[in-house]
Amino acid sequence: MIDFQHIIDTIAKEANTAEERGKVASYIPELSKVSAKKFGITLLDADGNSFSAGDSNERFSIQSISKVLALAKAFDLEGDHLWQRVGVEPSGDPFNHLSLLEMENGIPRNPLINAGAIVICDILVSKLNAPKQDFLTFVQQIADDPTITYDEAVAQSEKKTGFKNYAAAYLIKSYGNLTNDVETVLDLYFYMCSLTLSCEQLVKVFYIFMNHGKCLRNQHYLKIYQIKRINAIMLTCGFYDEAGEFAFEVGLPGKSGVGGGIVALLPNEFCVATWSPGLNDKGNSKLGMRALEKLTTKTGLSIF
Ligand code: GLN
Repeated sequence: MIDFQHIIDTIAKEANTAEERGKVASYIPELSKVSAKKFGITLLDADGNSFSAGDSNERFSIQSISKVLALAKAFDLEGDHLWQRVGVEPSGDPFNHLSLLEMENGIPRNPLINAGAIVICDILVSKLNAPKQDFLTFVQQIADDPTITYDEAVAQSEKKTGFKNYAAAYLIKSYGNLTNDVETVLDLYFYMCSLTLSCEQLVKVFYIFMNHGKCLRNQHYLKIYQIKRINAIMLTCGFYDEAGEFAFEVGLPGKSGVGGGIVALLPNEFCVATWSPGLNDKGNSKLGMRALEKLTTKTGLSIF
């Protein structure tokens, strides 16, 4: 039996003494208020046992990690029609790049870059009665945690400075791939990015992706073939232009956010979340990536 608690404690100890911690995101002003000293990690195994260390109980802005959840909800509502409006190829570009979008006629490369998530939000706005509330309820239900909320200040902060997301949304709209108006779609996008969860909560949300679509309470939320596709997209596109590096170093499907969170999973085995707000120059958590590399190397557990 692997002693997960011991391994996680060792990883947290090393992270706490690390000098090079990366840079906390400041392009969304509200995010810059968080200390780079934070580090949390939680691993939840398939039997529901959880192992934590550091600031694992502190909530942070999950930002782009929410794109996986939006994709899951939209896939459930729209089925395979979804893939007519967004691709499944890695972009090899930063998360907010616009050039490919113009070259490829407003069809974003994948649902985990900003442009792709904006198209996904358009689908949710069309399909849900009260998009923000219904999406939040979906996340609360899969985690069985009604305390999960949006962070109003973070959402408003990004709304004021999200110029590139406005540019992407208008470009998509100009190609006819956005049905609703830009303000309404981006309102959902900014709110979904502002979801605040701790590592301990995040692993409960992502449990369905390692457990064939069934949540901790054993209720089915997604079909097995949908989980297969979403995990494949996380593996190939979850870390923008560092997806190759993450597969190489860590070897798990996962997703990062500029709030410094990373969630990753090994199907049927475990789901793990890390939080360290300092980012590397690709916008992924510096110590989070290092921690997960250590986890899969020390345990010998990865998809490879
Ligand atoms: N809300 C952020 C943005 O649109 C999300 C980016 C991220 O986490 N990579 O820029």
